[in-house]
Amino acid sequence: MTHPTDGPEMVPADRFGPPQDDLQRLWTPHRLVYIGGQDKPADPTPESCPFCRIPAGDDEDGLVVARGADCYAVLNLYPYNSAHLMVLPYRHVSDYTDLTDAETHELAAMTQRAMRVVRAVYAPAGFNLGMNQGEVAGAGIAAHLHQHVVPRWPGDSNFLPVVARTKSLPELLADTRERLAAAWPTA
Ligand SMILES: [Zn+2]
Repeated sequence: MTHPTDGPEMVPADRFGPPQDDLQRLWTPHRLVYIGGQDKPADPTPESCPFCRIPAGDDEDGLVVARGADCYAVLNLYPYNSAHLMVLPYRHVSDYTDLTDAETHELAAMTQRAMRVVRAVYAPAGFNLGMNQGEVAGAGIAAHLHQHVVPRWPGDSNFLPVVARTKSLPELLADTRERLAAAWPTA
């Protein structure tokens, strides 16, 4: 695999284990959680919602990058790319039109801040921003809205996510969280 020099340092997947056969090994421990389905809410109530549960715990365990007054920023446990963040309200609310003015403003401000921090740390060439509203639109946890902030690098859409429905990520999520939290302005 070739990668642009201005992206994050990428480590070939075959460096993570002895090649005992012709299969590519990918270091994607979070996929195991995904396959187990542990974080799929059983129902749409706040009691079953991981996005309501995360802020009650500590930042390291929840992969929380920053906390505001009404919203927080957290790493996606199933990232499309390195440093894939989500910005979301603490309040369990599903529809964008149901946000208060304060929540709307902070969601936007934290999205901008997330972009600046990710740019400073990982130097992506672009971003995908967006919210999937409803399961029909692709929301994994539709009951609690979340804005995706996905950094993009040239050539990052290689064949793996398309064909193999998986993706090789060069950095552990705990390390990503540490770097972004350290770079996040506290003022
Ligand atoms: Zn919730």
